[in-house]
This record gives sequence, structure tokens and C-alpha cells, in this order.
Amino acid sequence: MVKVEESEVLVMDCHHIPKIELHCHLDGSVRPKTIIDLAKKDGIELPSYDLEEIEKLSIAPMECSSLDEYLKRFDLPLAVMQSGENIEKIVFELMEDALFENVKYMEIRFAPVLHTKNGMSQKEVIQSAINGIKRAEMFFNIEATLILCCMKHLSEEDAIETIEAGKKFIGKGVSAVDLAGGEEEGFADKFVNAMKLAKEYGYHITVHAGEAASAQNVIDSIEKLGAERIGHGVRIENNEETYNLVKEKGVMLEICPTSNVQTKAVDSMKNHPIRRFLDDGIKISVNTDNRTVSNTSMSDEFEVCRDVFGFGEEEFRKVYAHSVNALFVDDKKKEKLLRVLNQ
Ligand SMILES: [Zn+2]
Repeated sequence: MVKVEESEVLVMDCHHIPKIELHCHLDGSVRPKTIIDLAKKDGIELPSYDLEEIEKLSIAPMECSSLDEYLKRFDLPLAVMQSGENIEKIVFELMEDALFENVKYMEIRFAPVLHTKNGMSQKEVIQSAINGIKRAEMFFNIEATLILCCMKHLSEEDAIETIEAGKKFIGKGVSAVDLAGGEEEGFADKFVNAMKLAKEYGYHITVHAGEAASAQNVIDSIEKLGAERIGHGVRIENNEETYNLVKEKGVMLEICPTSNVQTKAVDSMKNHPIRRFLDDGIKISVNTDNRTVSNTSMSDEFEVCRDVFGFGEEEFRKVYAHSVNALFVDDKKKEKLLRVLNQ
């Protein structure tokens, strides 16, 4: 008989835990091999066609100097994401990858405006991503919707253009808008009218804030932009007013542990406040941010939560329930997803 070490028995298998992903960027999650395949197919020039080289160029180091350095890794995938066919394929593959991590439902985000270089309209871009979702849902036991990112470095008019383009897809593949990209202090003021319009149209709203700049951006995102969830938000830790606001309002923080270390949102993994947040009743979810750029998966992020923060079954059940309750879906869908916990 094979003797099983006690430690082996006690280690929780993170791979098979059911998961919900709320924060995943499509362009940061393209398989490196697909970047090469699509570039060859379309005659797009890459710095190299060697898989190892492309991996090196599309994965951000653990020690980035800043969020801006991290964001440079998106140039390469974006080069091959300028046709509907390619976008559809990349969405399909992302959902296939998530399926193997036991993700039950995911919200995939991307900025349609970054995919119009070859003349596609933003509506065509969105439609092709929805086609990818529909195809994956036909083949796999996983569902998804899209979050449309407006870019913080562009104008409010640009944001409104994306909001208008996605309007007809609300409830038919699109659930929300987001503000993404490099974070400056006080960015919210520029987008008040755009987010008001989005809300009127029926979009849900999530905003990247408190990642590379102060907790005040989190307050502004909630109070001025109507954010229902916050991308990252880890900087609330040292600001009592923001912390209490997030806690009282039950605003979900979409936490991405590996990415938070890479972008210097936190100074090290062991100092990440995720466990303190969870124990104190802050609503948190665990996400990849970017499978390729952060060289991670949902299973990897769960392992970090297990190994560094001591998450066990109770904590993972809490994260799953928080995540389902914060999804931009109707109550019927939430009930169905919550039933997974009892299986
Ligand atoms: Zn993000």
C-alpha cells in the first residue's frame, strides 16, 4: 500500500473548486501561440515567431516598475485582434481555458475602440465577441457576458461612442461598462456624463480605481460615476473613509492578486489585504485580470489565496457567493449559479 503523506491529504485541490470570474481582459488573455498563428495567417509582422520569444514579450514580469509598464504588454495581442474572425476565436479560446479551470460564469472585458484599426466599427467588434461567446456556450458548460471598457486616457466623447455602440447589445451579450487603463488622480470628473448616460441606457457600471492611485478615486467612482463594483480597489486599505464607504455600501472589489503585485498596487503578495478584507466583511472576488500578461489562471490565483492567505473551503465558498451576488445577471441566473455550492 502506498503511504500517503499527511501534508498531501490536507492540501486543498484548487483546480476543482467552482469559480466565477468577474475581471478578465480579453486582450490580456490571448494564448501566445494564437498570437503567432493569427499573425502568420494575416501577414502581420511580429518581432519574432518563436513561441518562447512571444511568451516573453507578452508576459509582464513580477517586478514591473508600474501599472504603465504592465500595460505595454497589450500591444502585441492587439495587433492580431483587428478582425471579427480573430476576436471570435480569441473569445472562444479564453472560455475554453476558463472551462478547464472550472469557471462556471465569466464576465469578459475589452475596449472595442482598440479593435477598429482596420476599419471595423465598434458595433462589429462587439458583435464578433458575442459570436465567440455564443459558440463557446454551445460547446462548453460555461457562460459569459461582455463588459465594455472605455479608456481613461481617451476623451469622454470616445467613451460615449463606445456606450452608444454597445447599447443595442445590452442584455444580449453585454452587461456593463468599465473605465480602464492608466490611473490618474481625479480621473472620474472627466467621465461623469458618459457614465450617467450608460446608467440611463441600462448598463451596469464597474470602474478600475484604487489600483495605481489614491483611495479618493474609489470614492469618486462610487459617488460620481455610480460604480457598483470596483476593479482592484486595494488602496482603500489605508483610507478609513473609503474603506467604510465600500463596506457599508457592499461594493464588490474585483481583486486580482498576481496582477496587484505586478502593477505595484500592493508592495508584495504577503502584504496583500485580501484576507483582511474578506474577514472584515468587505465583498471580494478573486480574478486573473489577464491570463497571459500575468501568466496566471483562476486555479493559480486560488492557490495563491490558499498558500499565502490560508483560504480554505469556508473562504472559497464566501468568495463564490460574493462573486455570484455581484454578477451583472438577473436573480434567476444567480440562484442557478448558487446551487453549484450545494452540489
Ligand atoms: Zn483590469
